[in-house]
Amino acid sequence: MDRWLLCDFHIHTNMSDGNLSLREVVDLYGQHGFDVIAITDHIFDREYLKRLKERGTKVPSLDESNFREYLRMLAKERDRAWREYNMLLIPGFEVTNNTDYYHIVALDVPQYIDPSLEVVEILEIIRECGGVSIAAHPGKKNSDREHLSKHLYENMDFYGEAFDAWEIGNQFDLYNEVIEKRLRFVASSDFHHMKHFSSWRTLIKVEKDPEAVKEAIKRNEEVAILFFKPGMRADMIEEMAKAQVGA
Ligand code: ZN
Ligand code: ZN
Repeated sequence: MDRWLLCDFHIHTNMSDGNLSLREVVDLYGQHGFDVIAITDHIFDREYLKRLKERGTKVPSLDESNFREYLRMLAKERDRAWREYNMLLIPGFEVTNNTDYYHIVALDVPQYIDPSLEVVEILEIIRECGGVSIAAHPGKKNSDREHLSKHLYENMDFYGEAFDAWEIGNQFDLYNEVIEKRLRFVASSDFHHMKHFSSWRTLIKVEKDPEAVKEAIKRNEEVAILFFKPGMRADMIEEMAKAQVGA
């Protein structure tokens, strides 16, 4: 019988602006009993990178030149995560437009996506590739100076069903609008630093298989959210998930 899987679909490493290496992230999540993680480093839009450069700031970003190498490294760690921890690693990235303000998490998409494309074009590419699209933090995070997904938030009715899921929780924040509009949801840590390790996560009752997990996000039936803290017992997590879905 399927059991509830502890999942995090939005995690950064030092291949963009996170501060742990990919290997350290895999070990951290593996040692804390996670079943499924997605690594989703940023592809920043060029205008934003130009502004950063003018300010004299440098942030690592995925781009067309390092994208293949990024996927290759994820594939290698995916094998190790499975071997050492029985944990699925789904490759992903965050299409990050900090000029028009939309952040889109793409899971299992084997091609680079330019963040300056329109939202509907980005969603179309993700769909054509058989990937999963997630609207990232569609509310202003307490920790953010700017509302980085303002465009998605302001057009939630228009984009609602076009995304496979919306983040109902991100780091320490919850988004009431996603609840009110009854959109398909997940909750993720948006992990950059250790302080984000205790944060919102997703529980999904499904077979531990990448395609099954992707389908379960889209179907969004047996999905629950959890404020995860290290040391939570698996049976406790299972009980909380059951209570939420009334099963
Ligand atoms: Zn983001
Ligand atoms: Zn992020």
